[in-house]
Amino acid sequence: MQNLDKLAKQISQCKKCRLWKTRKNTVPGEGPANAKLFFVGEAAGKNEDETGRPFIGQSGRLLTKMLEEAGIDRNKVFITSTLKCRPPLNRKPKRDEVEKCLPYLWQQIEVIKPKYIVLLGLVAIENMIGDHKKLKDMHGSTARMGDYNYFITYHPAAARRFLKIRKLMEEDLKKLKTLLK
Ligand code: URA
Ligand code: SF4
Repeated sequence: MQNLDKLAKQISQCKKCRLWKTRKNTVPGEGPANAKLFFVGEAAGKNEDETGRPFIGQSGRLLTKMLEEAGIDRNKVFITSTLKCRPPLNRKPKRDEVEKCLPYLWQQIEVIKPKYIVLLGLVAIENMIGDHKKLKDMHGSTARMGDYNYFITYHPAAARRFLKIRKLMEEDLKKLKTLLK
């Protein structure tokens, strides 16, 4: 069986899609192998590309704060993104990039076997469970597909821009915490 470090090493050498040419660092994700929650965002941004660490820019700091407020310790969850490299100028991931990269995400999930895969925003939702409903009609809900349970919420970048979404996301994360009991 693959372990998380081995996967991170493989990712660091990956050239499966065009993004390897423009990345500074790969961003495999971080967190313990026994995490009950597995968070999936969109793709690395500038700060993440520079450091190789997920969700450490402004959106990441807000996510960390909202997790804390919900009573979820960031150090006990696994946090990663749909793509492990930064798209130039933070453009949306392209379909072929997602197709090439998703096997890494699935291998991480198979190692961790989380209680909930937490989908942050539409890119994660569309690529993981293929749902095309509006987020306002899905956020805060759970879904069961295959061997896994999913929890749907917003991306912290949206929460950063809109106070209303921030409030909804805060409520979602509190609800998520109660599901872990
Ligand atoms: N947004 C993401 O989706 N992932 C990161 O790592 C940072 C910002
Ligand atoms: Fe490989 Fe994923 Fe990076 Fe593309 S985005 S080069 S598939 S690790």
